[in-house]
Amino acid sequence: MESVASIIDGKKISDEIRDEIRQRVEGLQSKTGVTPGLAVVLVGENEASQIYVRNKGKACENVGIQSFQHTLPEDTPQEVLAHLVAQLNQDPNVHGILVQLPLPKALASFDVVAAITPEKDVDGFHPVNVGNLVTGREGFRSCTPFGIMKMLEYIKFELKGKDAVIIGRSNIVGKPMGMMLLEKNATVTYCHSKTHDLAKKIKAADLVVAAVGVPELVKGEWIKEGAVVIDVGMNRDTAGKLVGDVEFGAASSRAAYITPVPGGVGPMTITMLLYNTVRSAYRFAGQPF
Ligand code: NAP
Repeated sequence: MESVASIIDGKKISDEIRDEIRQRVEGLQSKTGVTPGLAVVLVGENEASQIYVRNKGKACENVGIQSFQHTLPEDTPQEVLAHLVAQLNQDPNVHGILVQLPLPKALASFDVVAAITPEKDVDGFHPVNVGNLVTGREGFRSCTPFGIMKMLEYIKFELKGKDAVIIGRSNIVGKPMGMMLLEKNATVTYCHSKTHDLAKKIKAADLVVAAVGVPELVKGEWIKEGAVVIDVGMNRDTAGKLVGDVEFGAASSRAAYITPVPGGVGPMTITMLLYNTVRSAYRFAGQPF
């Protein structure tokens, strides 16, 4: 099938934003001597989490952010983790704290995230930052939907009055995505596993954001001609190939813009984490960002 959609190149957009971040890091250093620092806490040996943490460390290094990695064993008690978070909250070299999720089952994730000071919650998961988003106030925005907003900005997609359909209502992607789109005056519909007639809703959408985790759940024929399609999904197909939540080939023949998997949303997520960390460092240093 011949592709007509323009590809939204997450890698390219990400590289441009990272160049800007690098300049901001240098600017802060030369003005105040402060180097932005991100603490990443990994508990246990989840393989995917180890890869994510390693990638975040490399990305920090690449733009001049100091990365502090804390690796704790699987059986770490809640109090030990809470103590580390409390230390990081106080550490003047740390401007962002990220606890890699999922945590081992014995640990209460919500309590750990809520223990991070909202001023260093660069993931944007703390209830205060979620509340700030919902009430339209300043605060850290969750990195994946924040990155998607940057992509939409990049292609100059005017959201005002557009019908946006989000598939998925997770706390880290779907829910905050809807709030960010609403903030820009889109009309937002949330879909999830109990939604009736998903196809009908998607067929009416000017913007589709798929954050489900089911390979190619969204069929190409459901996409409205000229729609923008953002695929957050990262799934392995039976052959072990990385695929998204959208039938890429068929959707490309109808959409105006589409994100590929890989190389779409993925690179943007880490980029916005770097952005939030540098913004936090500016704030702690009392510098305008
Ligand atoms: P999640 O917490 O697993 O939630 C999945 C959502 O999809 C739920 O709201 C669920 O509905 C809904 N859902 C499941 N099956 C469905 C179906 N058949 N029809 C309609 N909705 C359905 O998801 P997540 O953490 O947001 O992750 C979603 C995907 O994005 C995963 O593939 C993940 O790997 C990927 N991801 C990528 C990035 C990135 O940077 N690229 C970042 C985060 C996540 P219910 O609420 O009713 O259960």
